[in-house]
Amino acid sequence: MNEASSGSGSAGATWCVLVAAGAGERLGGGRPKAFVGLGGRPLLAESLERLDASDWIDAIVVAAPPGWEEPAILLAEELVASKVAAVVTGGATRAESVSVALAEVPADALVVLVHDAARPLVEDGVIERVLGGLAEGVDGVVPALPIGDTVKSVDRGIVSQTVDREALVAVQTPQAFVAGRLRAAYAGELAGATDCASLVERAGGRIAVVAGDRRLVKVTTAADLELVAWLAAEDRR
Ligand code: C5P
Repeated sequence: MNEASSGSGSAGATWCVLVAAGAGERLGGGRPKAFVGLGGRPLLAESLERLDASDWIDAIVVAAPPGWEEPAILLAEELVASKVAAVVTGGATRAESVSVALAEVPADALVVLVHDAARPLVEDGVIERVLGGLAEGVDGVVPALPIGDTVKSVDRGIVSQTVDREALVAVQTPQAFVAGRLRAAYAGELAGATDCASLVERAGGRIAVVAGDRRLVKVTTAADLELVAWLAAEDRR
């Protein structure tokens, strides 16, 4: 099911796919993660409002949880998020949700940014960094943070190896891609992909890394939600 909202729908240079179709079982709350409360409104509102306000983005496609398309459209209308071109029904996995949303991105889009609604506090700085990285001739750009903790491989409760963390980063969204490269990657096998970049890598693409943002906390647990609510309230002060 594809439901066009009241958005512009015009073909722009930079399209954003906002994936919000996860069940969010680890969070609880009896509703999908994108619709749990954050500062008195659905969590989805925070990222949607910020992306809609960004001068870097021309149009947005939202992947909503099955059965939550109408609330997502109403939310976009309430926020006057005029860049929302379509709200689609997400799939069983994140990759499937991206794939359904990508089908709504017009063929003449040049760049596609993919963002997780689970990271509400997206700011222009990180959007600018990932888009700027694309100008260097790579196929995609991801924001990432160094890893502070020591990382170990574990086999049945016993450490098998301490990994050199200097070579590791923790990758966030938004991730930016040359539209054609992302489409080509999504034409292949989607199984096992936890982010978009891994599919582009699998298809032979080059992915650059730019500085992430510590405030782009991903909401997985109730403690994450509390932290993000506190950070969002700070922003409004
Ligand atoms: O589950 P997790 O938090 O890792 O999901 C990351 C993002 O992908 C979330 O914004 C979630 O809504 C989205 N997702 C989706 N469709 C799925 C699973 C996750 O859009 N089937």
